Amino acid sequence: MDITKFTAIELAEKIKSKEFTAREVTEASLALIDAKDNEIGAFLSIDREGALAAAAEIDRKISAGEDAGVLGGVPVAVKDNICIEDMTTTCASKMLENYRPPYSAHVVDKLRAAGAVIIGKTNLDEFAMGSSTENSALKKTANPRNTAYVPGGSSGGSAAAVAAGFVPLALGSDTGGSIRQPASYCGVVGMKPTYGVVSRYGLVAFGSSLDQIGPFARNTKDAALLLDVIAGPDQRDSNCAPEKLTGLNELNDIDYSGLKIGLPKEYFETEGLDSQVRQKVEAAIEKFKTAGAEIREIHLPMIKYAVPTYYIVATAEASSNLSRFDGAHYGHRCGDATDIIDMFSRSREEGFGEEVKRRIMLGTYVLSAGYYDAYYLRALKVRTKIADDFANAFKEVDIIAAPVAPSTAFKTGEKTNDPLAMYLSDIYTISVNLAGLPGISLPCGEADNGMPVGLQLISAMNQDAKLLAVSAGFEELG
Ligand code: GLN
Repeated sequence: MDITKFTAIELAEKIKSKEFTAREVTEASLALIDAKDNEIGAFLSIDREGALAAAAEIDRKISAGEDAGVLGGVPVAVKDNICIEDMTTTCASKMLENYRPPYSAHVVDKLRAAGAVIIGKTNLDEFAMGSSTENSALKKTANPRNTAYVPGGSSGGSAAAVAAGFVPLALGSDTGGSIRQPASYCGVVGMKPTYGVVSRYGLVAFGSSLDQIGPFARNTKDAALLLDVIAGPDQRDSNCAPEKLTGLNELNDIDYSGLKIGLPKEYFETEGLDSQVRQKVEAAIEKFKTAGAEIREIHLPMIKYAVPTYYIVATAEASSNLSRFDGAHYGHRCGDATDIIDMFSRSREEGFGEEVKRRIMLGTYVLSAGYYDAYYLRALKVRTKIADDFANAFKEVDIIAAPVAPSTAFKTGEKTNDPLAMYLSDIYTISVNLAGLPGISLPCGEADNGMPVGLQLISAMNQDAKLLAVSAGFEELG
């Protein structure tokens, strides 16, 4: 069978109706990875045995007439900062290169309960810090559309695995755009849910107040199904909402005559917005208009501070979260330490890459006694104002439409020596994390060089079901 031809929903149906066995589908996924992943580099590890055993169990259930789950037999890839018991969870860092967690993330339990077959773990920027997956200490990942280009990041491996057709579904994490931006660069759908919709238990923490796990898929329907599987309460994450959002997988028809779409003036005025990206995004908005939606200009005046605010809040939280990697508790420990301080500092020096160290230093600085008020506290205040801007906008409109990133995928190596240019590729996505909102990235065309352009749709908090419905509606507008 050719696994690249089917959506996750189709695969689950065909396995259930015995047109394919789960084993055939799993083998097709593994064979394609064997044939092509040396060129793409999406995976850091493959769980061949575990995947085949899971598939065998699905086939057994189906022949016994038991319920195999909504994802029964569907291959799924998982970003390698999400823990799976007894599989390496490296965060693409030398620090955790050989780390095997003794437990699985909540989302992994949910995937398994729904019958998904976990194929392997995907590459990322080290500890999810980056926008191109070039910060991985373990591997390079190429964009399946054109291997000279980056897949985006930090969930570049998951985006590439779906874009290459290795798997129809993958999980990523999004702290400042790490699902939406690589989805846009690779031409697939990626969604960051409302903060608290999905449990972070078992996700290696980067910026805990920003991190959310979310789905990658080739279309919105598949993404909605995957989100519906992983969403819901979990007592082990105190920020996880106590009630599961309803209707995530319903994708209600859109009444365009009642739909108001806001275009943030500030987003379209940014210097550095590529003209082809602008053109494709504007053409997408035109389609909504033709369908009957009302298009309004809106203002998010504080958005201009989103990048600096994010790089204060995210680095502060990262510096604190990453203090646990000290050579004593987990991961890499240096050899021949002279005393405990030497062990802490050399283990960290050897285990962390350059970008991770840069973030820890920035974060430690903004949290230090002398600068806490000037930077960290002020950033928290601006964060609230950014959230207020969105809340005001959503009094007027149902959905905000915007670019995902200022440009399409760039070439490998193009921005590695310019961290600031790299940070700016998140300019349209990070405010959504700062405000805790849901955002989705979906393909809306290609640039002249053939690289995909993404459209970002954003809704008010907990309106994830509406956001998915509008995204699915857009796909139907053709
Ligand atoms: N690119 C952003 C950063 O480097 C976002 C990363 C993410 O969402 N994990 O921090």
